[in-house]
Amino acid sequence: MNHNDFSILPLPDAMLRNLKELGYSVMTPVQAGSLPLILENRDVIAQAKTGSGKTAAFGIGLLSKLDVKKFRVQSLVLCPTRELADQVAKELRRLARFAHNIKVLTLCGGTAFGPQLGSLRHGAHIIVGTPGRVLQHLEKGSLLLDALETLVLDEADRMLDMGFIEEITKVIGHVPLQRQTLLFSATFPDAIMQLCGTVQREPVTVRTVSEERPNRIIERFYGVARDAKLPTLIRILAHFRPERSIVFCNTKIEAREIAESLHRRGIDALAIHGDLEQYERTDVLVQFANRSCSVLVATDVAARGLDIKELEAVVNYDMPQDPEVYTHRIGRTGRAGEEGLAFSLFTGDEALDADAYRDGSRRFEEADELPESQRFTLQPPNVTLVIEGGKKDKVRPGDILGALTGEAGLDGKSVGKIDIYERQSYVAIERGMAARAYERLKNGKIKGRKFSVWVLE
Ligand code: ADP
Ligand code: MG
Repeated sequence: MNHNDFSILPLPDAMLRNLKELGYSVMTPVQAGSLPLILENRDVIAQAKTGSGKTAAFGIGLLSKLDVKKFRVQSLVLCPTRELADQVAKELRRLARFAHNIKVLTLCGGTAFGPQLGSLRHGAHIIVGTPGRVLQHLEKGSLLLDALETLVLDEADRMLDMGFIEEITKVIGHVPLQRQTLLFSATFPDAIMQLCGTVQREPVTVRTVSEERPNRIIERFYGVARDAKLPTLIRILAHFRPERSIVFCNTKIEAREIAESLHRRGIDALAIHGDLEQYERTDVLVQFANRSCSVLVATDVAARGLDIKELEAVVNYDMPQDPEVYTHRIGRTGRAGEEGLAFSLFTGDEALDADAYRDGSRRFEEADELPESQRFTLQPPNVTLVIEGGKKDKVRPGDILGALTGEAGLDGKSVGKIDIYERQSYVAIERGMAARAYERLKNGKIKGRKFSVWVLE
C-alpha cells in the first residue's frame, strides 16, 4: 500500500469508497501532511499553493467528525469571496456524498439576506461563508454557533488583505473556545502568524510548498482596440495552434457570438453559457473533453465546475473581474512537464486593470507583432457520435467498443473516450474513421438491439 493512500487514515469505509469514486486515489502533499493531524483533532496551519487540494484536507477532517443526527451547525468555513465559498461548498457536498442528508449552506454577501434566513431556519450542519455576512447573521441571532466543533479559515491571507480581520475576530467571539481551528493560507505574513497565535491552540504547521512544482505557464498580454479582439484571437490561435483551448469572456451573448464567428472562419468552436439546456451543456462538454471540439468559449459562471484541465491554452478575451478569477482561469492550462499558455486581451478601458498584472515575468506585447493569419482553420482530431441508448438500456462502454471494433470493424485505436449517460451515450471517433463508425453503428446492433445514431456537429 502506498503511504499516501487515503486508506491509511482512520476513515469510514463509505468515505473511502466515495473518495475513490471521485477519482482521489492518493493524498496530495498538503492532505498527506495535514490530514493525520486534523483527524487527531489538532489545530493546524497549512500552507500550500492553489489547486493543491486544501478543501478536501479540511473537508474530510470536518466531515469525519460530523454527527448528522445532531441538527446543529458543527463546522464553519470562512472564505474571502463568494466565488470561493461556492467552490468550497460544492467540493464539501461532493465529499459528503458518502453519508445521507448532510446539509451545507453558504452565507455570502452580494446575495439577498431574506432567503438565507429561511435556509437557516431549516438548519444546516456546515456553513460556508464570507466573514461579513456570517457576522451579520450572528449579530441578528439568525445563526447560532454554540455547537461548533470545527472552524476553518480558508485563504486566510486573502481575507486579511481584504480587510476582514475585524469581522473574523468578531465571528470568533461567537464560537465556543473548545473547538478545532484550521487555518489555510498560501503565504505566511506576520499578520497571519499573529492571527494564529490568538485563535489557535498549539497549532502544528504544515508546509508543502517546496515539494510542489508549480505549473509552468507563459502569460502574455495584448493591448487591442475593441474591434480588433476577434482578429487578435484568431491570430493567437493561428500562431500558437493549441490543440484545445478555452476562451473566457464576460457575457453569454459574447460567448455565442465569438463561437459563431470562429466557426464561420473554419475554427471549430463551441460556446458554453448559462442559457443552455442541460442536454446541450452535456453535448458541448463531452465534445470538448473527448477532443471533438478545439475551442470552448465560456463565461466564468458556465465554466465553473468544469473539470477540464491540462489545456494547451487559455485566452482571456475579456479581462477577468479580479486577480482571483485570473488565477483560476489560467490554472486550467499547464500540464505536468509541459508549458501552458495564457493570453489576455485588454482594451483601452481595461488598461488599468491589465497594468496590475505587470510583474516582470508576464509579457506585454503588441498584437500586431503576431503574424497575420491567412486562411487558418482548426479542426479537432475526433468526431463525436451519439447513440440513443444509455445506462437505462444497460449499455456499457465495452458494448459500444465491441460493436465498433468487432470482425472487420474499426481499429480500437480509432475509438476515443466513451461516455455513458442515462439515456444516451457518446463515443469519440478519429475524424477520418467517423463515417465508417457511423455506418457500422447504424447498421449493426449493440447488445442485440438497434439504436439510433447521429453525428454531433
Ligand atoms: P486549493 O483549495 O488548494 O486551491 P482545491 O481544494 O480547490 O485546491 O482542489 C483542487 C482540485 O483538486 C479540485 O478539483 C479537487 O477536486 C482536486 N483534488 C483534491 N484532492 C485530490 C486528490 N487527493 N486526488 C485528486 N484530485 C484531488
Ligand atoms: Mg481553496
